[in-house]
Amino acid sequence: MSTKNPKYIFVVGGVMSGVGKGITAASISKILQSKGFKINSVKVDPYLNVDAGTMNPTEHGEVFVLNSGLETDQDMGNYERFLNMDLGPENYMTSGMVYKSVIERERNLGYHGKFVEAIPHVRDEIMNRLDKAGRMAKSDISVVEIGGTIGDFQNALFIEAARVFKMKRPQDVLFVMVSYLPVPSTIGEMKTKPTQNAVRQLNSYGVQPDVIIARGPLPLDQKRKEHLAVWCNVKPENIISAPDIESIYDVPINFEKDNMGDNILSLLKIRRKTKVDMKDWRALVEKTKKVKKQVKVAIVGKYFNTGDFVLSDAYISVIEAIKFSAYENNSKAVLSWLNARDFEKGKNLASLDQYDGILIPGGFGETGIEGKIKVIEYARKRKIPYFGLCYGMQLMMVEYARNVLGLKDAHTVEINPKTKNPVIDIMPEQKKLLAENKYGATMRLGAYPCYLINGTIARGAYGKNKISERHRHRYEVNPEYISILEQGGVVFSGKSPDGRLMEIAELPKGKHPFFLGTQFHPEFSARPLAPHPLFSAFIKACLGKQK
Ligand code: GLN
Repeated sequence: MSTKNPKYIFVVGGVMSGVGKGITAASISKILQSKGFKINSVKVDPYLNVDAGTMNPTEHGEVFVLNSGLETDQDMGNYERFLNMDLGPENYMTSGMVYKSVIERERNLGYHGKFVEAIPHVRDEIMNRLDKAGRMAKSDISVVEIGGTIGDFQNALFIEAARVFKMKRPQDVLFVMVSYLPVPSTIGEMKTKPTQNAVRQLNSYGVQPDVIIARGPLPLDQKRKEHLAVWCNVKPENIISAPDIESIYDVPINFEKDNMGDNILSLLKIRRKTKVDMKDWRALVEKTKKVKKQVKVAIVGKYFNTGDFVLSDAYISVIEAIKFSAYENNSKAVLSWLNARDFEKGKNLASLDQYDGILIPGGFGETGIEGKIKVIEYARKRKIPYFGLCYGMQLMMVEYARNVLGLKDAHTVEINPKTKNPVIDIMPEQKKLLAENKYGATMRLGAYPCYLINGTIARGAYGKNKISERHRHRYEVNPEYISILEQGGVVFSGKSPDGRLMEIAELPKGKHPFFLGTQFHPEFSARPLAPHPLFSAFIKACLGKQK
């Protein structure tokens, strides 16, 4: 099969949101990848934000940053983790991004005086982007998840673009509908009607699903499968039962029980290239079920208690990164969510003794800051392994400056612009942007190289001198405080190639078993089959504390 004509699988959602389209798309990608195909996963988000960067994690979940610096939806993180590969900016698309380029082209006379309309111009822009994503990745198959639910106004143009794709290349395009089959407690049986209606609604767009993923609290039985098949015009073998399960990493294995991969390939009229079949993946999932030893990690954050939002969404990459490294060390991570505000004024600190390690993830703004600083101080003094990510590293420097160097009012200028000891300062190039209210996509974003210093914990963990990690921040260790911090005992074990930016700070092993912070976000590159070396070093230190 030539990559000139890549195949496309569009994943759409029926009945309701939150049924696991992202994990379904990631799992289909994983299965097909294991059969020897080069896969390219694309996420389409119908909202008008140009990217996910300006959204609050309590509303939207984590903002996942790609190597390129594009700020995206957390599903992109799942894709990268499932596929164990980096994705490019062309693999993410929002309505805002699409409209912005159409409007910019119109302003530049790019439409040569014509009316500019949703159809064909916006639709064609979507199709061009989808085409580009497939071509740039030189993929055999692009798996495109269209956000939202069938029937939404917001995603209609994307479904329309997908329909035209299929009309032009019927052999190369498949539609997978992820639907939900409820089991109402008063009735006690699984109902197929909402899914039938969702298929009709999709039909009204001119689209017929080729595969239905039947999500639900229970497995889909044979009787209902055949019933759905007739009503929805989909062969029974292409209706895949997808009951709720404990771990998302089980989903591809579950799908394969229904032969999903080979069925999809036969619909696309292509044949598998290998017999690998997710060997490593299966072994990992097996291991996760067997490990007994626990490692207790406290995550101290601020994105808590907001309506019906799912807390773990705000920190999903951090959570997954901890889990992968725990499994690598034959243990299971037991995570506790601690609200930073509970530790303000030094309250409740003794409760931290029960944990094997403490992690403070990235964040913005003032809420909970003083509580986090107290937690860091406690971890330092009690020699509890501590891992600080981005803000968690900046606050580690603030704590050190205040309590070890005696600079009592030390702070980050993000919170106190007037402090006499701005150990964390705004980067000069950022100051201007903020003064002009330019917030979108203007942080220091994406992958940058970093050099490691020999003999440090970081260097030992990575096992090499030059690394590349993803960033998302505006503030940094103030160059004027670098030597003061160093003289006071801090080791900057990772620096930007020009030596100007401090990327990793740590205390030497003799002083503390693991007290380390990164200005970058290592969690974005942690993968189940390739756990992140710094998370693994942290978990090893946590297990060491148990002894
Ligand atoms: N608020 C800090 C900054 O902008 C840290 C950002 C983060 O943790 N991602 O530099």
